[in-house]
Parts: sequence; C-alpha cells; structure tokens
Amino acid sequence: MTDRPNIKGLTFAEVEARIRALGGEKAGATLGARVYKGILQDGFRTFGEIPGMAKERAAIADALFSTTSLEVLSVRRSWDRSAKYAFKLADGNVIESVLLHHHGLWTVCVSSQAGCPLACRFCATGMLGLKRNLEAWEIVDQVVFVARDAGVRVSDIVFMGMGEPLLNEEAVARAAEVMTSTPGLQISKKRIVVSTSGVVPAIHRWIDAGRPWKLVFSLGSAVPEKRLKLMPIQERFGFDAFLDAVKRYESHRGGKHVTLEYVAIRNLTMGDDDIEAMRTHLRGFNLILNVIPLNPVGNELEAPSMEEARAFTAKLRGLGFPVKVRYSGGKDQFAGCGQLGRSLLEAGTPPK
Ligand code: SAH
Ligand code: SF4
Repeated sequence: MTDRPNIKGLTFAEVEARIRALGGEKAGATLGARVYKGILQDGFRTFGEIPGMAKERAAIADALFSTTSLEVLSVRRSWDRSAKYAFKLADGNVIESVLLHHHGLWTVCVSSQAGCPLACRFCATGMLGLKRNLEAWEIVDQVVFVARDAGVRVSDIVFMGMGEPLLNEEAVARAAEVMTSTPGLQISKKRIVVSTSGVVPAIHRWIDAGRPWKLVFSLGSAVPEKRLKLMPIQERFGFDAFLDAVKRYESHRGGKHVTLEYVAIRNLTMGDDDIEAMRTHLRGFNLILNVIPLNPVGNELEAPSMEEARAFTAKLRGLGFPVKVRYSGGKDQFAGCGQLGRSLLEAGTPPK
C-alpha cells in the first residue's frame, strides 16, 4: 500500500481523525496517542516495536499510516555533543542536518530541500543545484532521528540547513505544524525559526497566512549591486522589494526586532562602504544583525581572520543595533548550520 501517508507528516489531530474514521473505534484517541508518541516522540521505527503494542492494534495503524524512515549515512560528532548527520532519501539524494548544543538546549538545523536552486555565491548547497523539494515527513524525520540518536529532548528548530524553505512553503509549514504537535515532538511554536534568502511573494504570503513561526532574513550585503552578485535571487526580487517585505514583517510582529543574517567575506562585504550602506538602508529598522564569518566553499571567496571579524563587528556596533557573531566555522571541524553540502561536493555528488 503505497498511498498511505507517512505518520511523521501528519498532526496528531489528523492521525486521530483517521483512526476514528476507520470504524468509530472508542479507543481511537488512545491508540492514536500511543502510536503518535511512540513514533514521533520516542523514535520507534515501526508500530510493532512500541512497547506493549498488541499485534492487532499495530496492524490497524499499519493499514492507515506508513512509518518509512530516512536512512542515515553518517554521523560526525563533536566534543560538545553537537553532531552533523547525512541522510539518504529513497531516491538516492542526500541531505544533512545538524544538532547544536547551546547552554543546555538542543537545536536541530533541518534541511527543507535536497540542494537549492538559488545559487548564492558563498553557499555550498547552492553549488549543488536543486535536486528536489523535501516532503513534510522527510523534514520532521530529521528531528525524530537526531533526537533519538542523541538521546535528547529538542527544544529549538532552525530551517537553516540545505535549501530555501520559502520555495517549499507548504511542506515546511506542515512540518512545523507537526513538530509542535502533542504528544509528538512538542516543540514550542515560538522556537521554530525559518531562514529565507528573500523570496518576496512568499514572505508576504507567510504574513498574510498568519504563520506563527519566526522568519529571519539573509541580507548577504547591504550594497544592492554586491547583493545581486552574491545572491542571484535578487534578479527576481529586487533589493527594495526585499527590504519592504522585511519591514512589513517587522510591523506585523508588532515592532519586535527582526533578525538579519550577514555573511562576512574578506575584502568583499567587510568594508567601510558596507557599513555606510547599512547605515543608509537599514535606518529605521528594529533589528539584530547576525554576522556569520564565511565558511569557505572552495571558490575565490575568503573567510576573514578572527581579528578582521572582530574589527568589523566593532565598527558595526557603531550603527546602534545589536550585532552577534556566529563563529560556526571555528567551533568545530564540520562547521555549524547554514553551510551544508560541502561534504557532498567533496564526495563528488554529480551536479544535475
Ligand atoms: N536558504 C536559506 C536558509 C539556509 S542558509 C537562506 O539562505 O537564508 C542559512 C544561512 O547560512 C543563511 O543566512 C546563509 O546566508 C548562511 N550561509 C550560507 N552559506 C554560508 C557560508 N559558506 N558561510 C557562512 N554562512 C553561510
Ligand atoms: Fe540556497 Fe540559502 Fe544557500 Fe542561498 S544561502 S543557495 S538560498 S541554501
């Protein structure tokens, strides 16, 4: 039966409704809660493995839902219990996820697409091109697998892995909804963050639909001509339209700060012209700037030294908004989240 939906792509309410519809079973809610918790929270891979599950009841669930899982290819662990996972999809494509440990909290950085079509110059995923969009369950299963493997309760999700989440809106929204479901992963909706490179119409749709998960925006550069070169998406959605969408999002959130991500690239995005461009274009925004020193991707773009990054952020602080630096590359040999795909390139994944 190939048409059964994967339980990891369904909310608890949907699972319960399908069990009920099967024959108004009185115990529908109980069975629903047991299988949902067993698969999504405890990470069992089949209904039959759930402790105390009678065979007939497992068969009911099996008739309704698939429990197919991602296949893990490799896990690289770091000294601080952060880890990077590579998964193989059923069609052979490979995606990556990262578990990050921060002040006792666990964040999973998930991929939303295999590859990415947007080809940002500084991004390894962009060099792979788009293979395909992920399905909701393939996004959720990254978290289920990682939580079970590491034996942790995940509190935060960031859509900063491979892919542009706003080019796969429906699956991303469904996955986020499922992640908040009780008795599944039970992640707070306030702790799900979606990063976009600026798919302007999708940002407006996100606002109009009242989606509760937080958007953060990749600025790339505040000099429009530089941004265009670094982030070809700007050919489709211009610089002003991008900033207008960010501004609208800020108002929509009641004036709470918006987060902009900024890749610091030596001799390219760290000059006085870049500081001045931010002064001009970001005036009036209530923002936090998240500076990510470039994690080199094998082209001519160079990472700044620690000193250069420090000097640059000191100047940025003069602009009057909070500046945070994410030393994702220095912390660990495999780098953090936001620059996945490099190992796939090195492994010679053929570009499509
Ligand atoms: N497609 C989305 C989310 C994935 S990328 C987006 O572009 O926002 C997540 C973040 O990592 C983005 O802010 C991106 O600018 C940053 N990033 C990508 N490649 C990087 C690299 N090589 N070094 C540092 N940051 C990088
Ligand atoms: Fe795609 Fe984001 Fe990478 Fe750009 S930075 S290529 S949008 S994943």
